[in-house]
Amino acid sequence: MTHVMNTYARQPVAFSHGEGSWLVDTEGKRYLDALSGIAVNTLGHNHPDLVHALSHQASQLLHTSNLYRVPLQEALADKLASLSGMDEVFFCNSGCEANEAAIKLARFYGHRQGVDNPSIIVMEHAFHGRTMATLSATGNRKTQAGFEPLVSGFVRVPYNDIEAIRQVAEHNKNVVAVLIEMIQGEGGIHLADDQFQRDLRTFCDKKGWLLMTDEVQCGIGRTGKWFGFQHSGVRPDVVSLAKGLGSGVPVGACMVGGRAAGLFGPGNHGSTFGGNPLAMRAAKTTIDVLERDQLLENADKMGHAIRNGLRDRIGHFPEVVDIRGRGLMIGVELDRPCGELVGLARDAGLLINVTADSVVRLLPSLNITQADVDTLVERLTAVITHYLGK
Ligand SMILES: *Cc1c(COP(=O)(O)O)cnc(C)c1O
Repeated sequence: MTHVMNTYARQPVAFSHGEGSWLVDTEGKRYLDALSGIAVNTLGHNHPDLVHALSHQASQLLHTSNLYRVPLQEALADKLASLSGMDEVFFCNSGCEANEAAIKLARFYGHRQGVDNPSIIVMEHAFHGRTMATLSATGNRKTQAGFEPLVSGFVRVPYNDIEAIRQVAEHNKNVVAVLIEMIQGEGGIHLADDQFQRDLRTFCDKKGWLLMTDEVQCGIGRTGKWFGFQHSGVRPDVVSLAKGLGSGVPVGACMVGGRAAGLFGPGNHGSTFGGNPLAMRAAKTTIDVLERDQLLENADKMGHAIRNGLRDRIGHFPEVVDIRGRGLMIGVELDRPCGELVGLARDAGLLINVTADSVVRLLPSLNITQADVDTLVERLTAVITHYLGK
């Protein structure tokens, strides 16, 4: 019996170390990691630049609090602003916290506009986190059940449906913002159409709403661009980040621009740990290595290689509904619930995830090599082929 609270149905394996896209378990067995700790280990495992930067930072300073200037925060905020086109960054420690900041900001913005009961439009099948506000924004009953009363002030619409949003606007004068993942991760790797993204931007401008994108999973290079919204060319007013930002060190960020900039002042929001020197060093190093080693290009190229490789080998199976994604955020949808594949793949030395019951999700590290991509495609092909009884 463990004293760890039973909040995860954990797989019967533990890892002792890793290198690049590979993990080694406590028995010495090697696994190709096609999940990266759920889109977190951007630079793979044991990256020498990260190890060096974090060791050095730990020898200097870990934490000083936000009662003082933190020069590394200022440097990282400048960098994120220049990569995203946003103006200001608030640092926190996780994705749900980044979204909490976005939700608070939207309400604050609404009150400033004279809306006493501000609402935020959210999407079906969205995932925004596990805190009370973010699980209320999440479009999955399983995440919410048992935790009522939910936080009010969210209106749900189908994904990729601008007409549904127009209809909400007609009846609900309290809407002040839209919160959306430009690529839904937990929901099953669904992409917002480029045209829908542009229509949404135009409509938010017309209404004076904030366009808030949850880039916790798809941000920081994973899709082949720094941010998911950059594929369509729209610029959101609020962007939340976390997962891949620190390559494994917990760090989140809420970036604001346009009409969302300049809203929060001292006392409106805060975090004890947020933006501490260790986390900032991890994020800064992650971005530096992504740039230096041209890993966005690699994500794009390897993403195509994985999708094309899988399409060639299993795309013709009638049970394979779709192989989709952008960069290294990939979904293989089967015509049936396929959670069993996780264990079968693990036995075959491949770490994957299944989300939305029937979608195999691949989120390898951004520095995955062509040789490892070949192994990934080979192993996944064998596992799915066998599972389908071919
Ligand atoms: C994982 C995830 C979150 C929640 O992040 P945590 O760090 O677990 O709080 C929020 N939004 C999206 C899109 C995510 O993928």
